[in-house]
Amino acid sequence: MPTTSTFGCCITLIKLECAARSIECAAHSGPLRDRSIKSATKSSEFASPPKEITLKILLNESQIGQGIDRLAMQLKAEYADRPLTIVAIMTGSLVMLADLIRRLEMPVRISLIQASSYRGGMKSGELTVQDHMMLDICNREVLLIDDIFDTGRTLVHVTQLLKELSPASVKTAVFLNKLGQSVVSAKPDYVVFEIPNEFVVGYGLDYLDLYRNLPFVGVLEESDLQKHANIEH
Ligand code: 5GP
Ligand code: MG
Repeated sequence: MPTTSTFGCCITLIKLECAARSIECAAHSGPLRDRSIKSATKSSEFASPPKEITLKILLNESQIGQGIDRLAMQLKAEYADRPLTIVAIMTGSLVMLADLIRRLEMPVRISLIQASSYRGGMKSGELTVQDHMMLDICNREVLLIDDIFDTGRTLVHVTQLLKELSPASVKTAVFLNKLGQSVVSAKPDYVVFEIPNEFVVGYGLDYLDLYRNLPFVGVLEESDLQKHANIEH
């Protein structure tokens, strides 16, 4: 029957497309795995946030914009026209970095470093740092930025690493400071917003590599996690 054969043909085409795509994916993921970059889990590679999760908005787009404006003003007051090297801790500070640098007028160099302590979830784990995209910061004025100051271990550890590279100075700026969670004595030099002890996503912050693209900051409740656990593709 024509209908069955058309249907069968579509299935074959879809299967062929999928096969081609997985050959392509295998070719791309090989070298990355060889360089021991942690690959995403199966579910986080393909999943979307469950539709039934409605995030409580903690900071909206306009509040965030005003906060980044304030930080840019503070940095202009501190550095005036002097060149600044911004070291951004990936991946969480990506959105803040993009918004902040477009508000700065001094010469700006951008250096990236990757530090991760949340192993794909909400629990803090061992800190791993990759610095293969670091610029030379010797005798440079450096601003280290991160998405959130929680226990403070990441910022303290990375600041220490940077100081070993003989910069002229190192200051730190975070987008969010989670109140009451710090286990270190150091504090960030600049904080855009103080927030309560909640797990937040959006504006660069993720859960299982999702939500980074939200233009606002929202709270992900413990009860929402089960909905994530049910996603399997
Ligand atoms: P710390 O070393 O200060 O405990 O943690 C810093 C890192 O933990 C941040 O850069 C961020 O990646 C992650 N983190 C801490 N709290 C949160 C949170 O509420 N939401 C998300 N998405 N990440 C968090
Ligand atoms: Mg981080």
